[in-house]
Amino acid sequence: MPTVKKLVLIIVDGLTPAGFERAVVSGRAPALAFLAENGTYRQATSVFPSLTPVCLSAIATGSGPGVHHIPHLVWWHRRERRIVEYGSSFAAVRAAGVAQTLTDTIYNLNQQHLAADAVTVFEALEDAGYVAGAVNITCYRGRTRHQPTLPWITKPAFGPKRFFFYSLFESDPTGAPLAVRNRAGGSIDAYAAAVGRWLVTRDGFDFLAYYLSDFDYASHAHGPVGAEDVALERTDAAIQALLDAAGGPDAFLERYAVVLHSDHGQTLVEQAAQLELPLARFADDIVVTASNRAGQVYLLPDARIDAGELAQALDREPSVETTLRFEGDEAVARREGEEVRFRPSGDGWETSGDASILDHPDALHRTWSALSNPNAGELLVSAAEGWELADMGGRHHAGGGSHGSLVAGDSIVPLLTIGVDAVPTRITEVTPAVLAHFGVEVPPPMRAAALAHAG
Ligand SMILES: [Zn+2]
Repeated sequence: MPTVKKLVLIIVDGLTPAGFERAVVSGRAPALAFLAENGTYRQATSVFPSLTPVCLSAIATGSGPGVHHIPHLVWWHRRERRIVEYGSSFAAVRAAGVAQTLTDTIYNLNQQHLAADAVTVFEALEDAGYVAGAVNITCYRGRTRHQPTLPWITKPAFGPKRFFFYSLFESDPTGAPLAVRNRAGGSIDAYAAAVGRWLVTRDGFDFLAYYLSDFDYASHAHGPVGAEDVALERTDAAIQALLDAAGGPDAFLERYAVVLHSDHGQTLVEQAAQLELPLARFADDIVVTASNRAGQVYLLPDARIDAGELAQALDREPSVETTLRFEGDEAVARREGEEVRFRPSGDGWETSGDASILDHPDALHRTWSALSNPNAGELLVSAAEGWELADMGGRHHAGGGSHGSLVAGDSIVPLLTIGVDAVPTRITEVTPAVLAHFGVEVPPPMRAAALAHAG
């Protein structure tokens, strides 16, 4: 195997480009500032819906939801005729059933819901003989069986060789403190930092996915700017822990290439709505799933309506900006009663109608992929600026921050590369860039996803 520099992928959940740019000049984030000084910075686009499980699966598989099949934070499982809820809020978790939610989030996302023919960065690298590591990333599928650390949970998970997941799975005894003892106080990233320190000290991987979630948590509560006062220093400290463990910032960059980015942005939300209400008259024919700034409507078998009628019914709903659906082989976006139709054509798109409806970043590619997901609803809903769609526990983040929609603030992320040749402009291009760095061939599903319309 040729000698290549090892690589650390750092994902800061919910960090916006503006937040990243402020952080590096603020003096409050020395680790981010050092990396920015030594790297190439650009903005990149997320996927739609721009929600964490969809985004992290997109990052790990190098493909959109049309390939990886995770549609939302909350969705209707047609075959099992039940709601899958990955943890929108504690109230939503209670409504979906705590045990079911934990099983869905910890196990089923990777073992059942994630498409069998998608390939994760961990699988691709380890199949090529590299050692991969994952810290806390919720899309972690690999080929090594790991027994849980807690005696009352017995089911194994299959992750990369170095696998650390919220104290629940630990491939190695690192002495890290329990992850979940104080979420708001930053205990999850403190756990990640302790594990990361251990891994870098031992140089125990070729590739490490290092996922920090606490910034997003603070941003939901305090808004994307307010989060900087609460969580920026802690996030930076979790990155600094890696630099220190390598013997300092310069020593860290001598040993590792770096990709640092976020999974989606966040925007301020002032108001919340229940997507079920404007669709109440169709209640017998549909299932509505909504959370944060995206929703989905599923038609039940034998429904007496179609997705076009549902879209019309949302024309005057202020919380809804754009809806999307398939009609035959065309996708249809509808906004305030106006429509644009589009479908793949050659390397690009054929559109008819008012194309200005879909003026969002990378909109045709992202929405086509979202619609092509077999687990997606027949109608997809992107919320209007400033609005959030309440989850099944009735919870929302009005007064704070949220994400999930097609709008730029939810969809654009900061992306920094150091020592990596490729220039990713989408979060789905990060894993192909990582594989290229290691000289590993990009697997067919990932290659297909890079085309304009395959997802
Ligand atoms: Zn996220």
